[in-house]
Amino acid sequence: MHDFMLAWARVTPDEPAVIEAGPEGEPAVLSYRQLEQRVHEYASVLDDLGLDMGERVILESDTSASAIAMFLACSTLGLTFVPVSPETPLKRLLTIMETTDPGLYVQAVDGRREGLPQGMGRGRFGPQGLLVERRPGLRIRHRREPVGTDTAYMIFTSGTTGRPKGVVMSHRGVVSFYRGMLQHALVGSGDRVATTSPLQFDFSLLDIGLALGSGAAVVPVPRDTLRWPRRFVRFLGDMEVTQVNGVPSIWRSALRHESEQLAALEKLRGVLFCGEDFPLPELRLLQQQLPTARLINCYGATESMACSFTDVPNPLPPDLEKLSIGFAHPGAEMMIVDESGRVIEEAGMQGEIHLRTPALFTGYWDDLEATRRAQVPDPLDPRSGQLVLRTGDLAYRGRGGEMYFCGRVDSQVQIRGNRVEIGEVERKILEFPGITAAAVLVMQRPDREAVLGAFVSMAPDAQAPKGTELSAFCTETLPAYMAPKELHVVAEWPVTAHGKTDRAALAAVAGI
Ligand code: ADP
Repeated sequence: MHDFMLAWARVTPDEPAVIEAGPEGEPAVLSYRQLEQRVHEYASVLDDLGLDMGERVILESDTSASAIAMFLACSTLGLTFVPVSPETPLKRLLTIMETTDPGLYVQAVDGRREGLPQGMGRGRFGPQGLLVERRPGLRIRHRREPVGTDTAYMIFTSGTTGRPKGVVMSHRGVVSFYRGMLQHALVGSGDRVATTSPLQFDFSLLDIGLALGSGAAVVPVPRDTLRWPRRFVRFLGDMEVTQVNGVPSIWRSALRHESEQLAALEKLRGVLFCGEDFPLPELRLLQQQLPTARLINCYGATESMACSFTDVPNPLPPDLEKLSIGFAHPGAEMMIVDESGRVIEEAGMQGEIHLRTPALFTGYWDDLEATRRAQVPDPLDPRSGQLVLRTGDLAYRGRGGEMYFCGRVDSQVQIRGNRVEIGEVERKILEFPGITAAAVLVMQRPDREAVLGAFVSMAPDAQAPKGTELSAFCTETLPAYMAPKELHVVAEWPVTAHGKTDRAALAAVAGI
């Protein structure tokens, strides 16, 4: 992975690799040569610690030049980096630590995490270097050279069992994905790619691989800037960004409040979105403001980073009802499979997307059963031993063979592009004293952002949670986007004829 990302240091060493906002908001550039140097500096400090290959390094940071150098340093030494956002609740971080048993925890110099277990190796990194605050315990180093099947990183996503699920990705997998993606020629040398997703969301790794793999520059958008549409749009202009990558919801407020300023971003020529459907009315508005920009719908899941890049028609036909997710990137193939395991070729017939790709994740960390459910025999060649990804996504083909996404087979949903297992939220709610039944629904109201709504039933003498109490309880262990923003206390719990929670009746209670 590091060889791939640093290849342009050989070709254009003095071109910008990362552009950040300096102290006065001015662009602060790190060239490819300087990035590579920082990677070497960090790697040499890490190397002295004697960690064995495959050991986990938890990396807590926002996306920054130093964070990129840090994970590339891990990659160089064959250490598995586990990115964690500074916004991750402490309890969730502790669960990740317990699960991964890391050799080292590193955070950015200005990181403010407290309450971590004593005894664990830890350090801080920044432009001045990597400072080890506490050395890890002595280990035996077995190997020194990473190979393609070694683990590059592990990303934690929402899991149905109530614990975050670790998606393990190999160097071979991620590089093969990057190579397929580059064939779309999305950006080139001289481009500036704004990245808006937190480092723990593999979309940020996609952005970094896209920019560095193309000889372009990565421009991390600070978290605070993203919250304010005016600042966001001004930042894009000040940094002379040519391409913005992010989930659809990053555009919502800017379209509403800053549309003129958005239209004035002359350098912006590409927008790549991913993670969920872009609501068509908003996409039309975005295209109106940026009529010459190439808009790209990127579809996929953490288990293969992503798998398709489809140009949005320009202009969008007025009668278009659904965006296509197209075809898989070169080197991979998406198939639609019916319940009996047959591959569907006909247009209009719905089935589950299966992905044939060398970019397939290695497995879920310490969870063979879940891995077996997701990696199934290749329906086109079931006896070959080859495995494919069963995505859980439903789709059908259009007349040209292109695909249209139409929901999930399970209860996984996307909130602001973040993947959420409803079951994980429901389990947490059930831990609240006095709650006897819980259901979580996506509350999608016209012109409003989708949020999670909690429906609960209380024990006879129990006090229902007040105000934002339940939401605050959830954010003790869950990321903010997983906490319900609405609460409905239900006196008569509705059930279907099969005795299951009647979710449609609950939705009706809330007027959804
Ligand atoms: P990603 O990092 O690609 O968003 P996640 O693993 O967080 O991946 O979520 C993957 C799920 O998000 C997919 O299985 C699918 O249900 C949904 N998804 C991803 N991209 C799109 C898209 N472009 N359009 C519609 N749904 C999408």
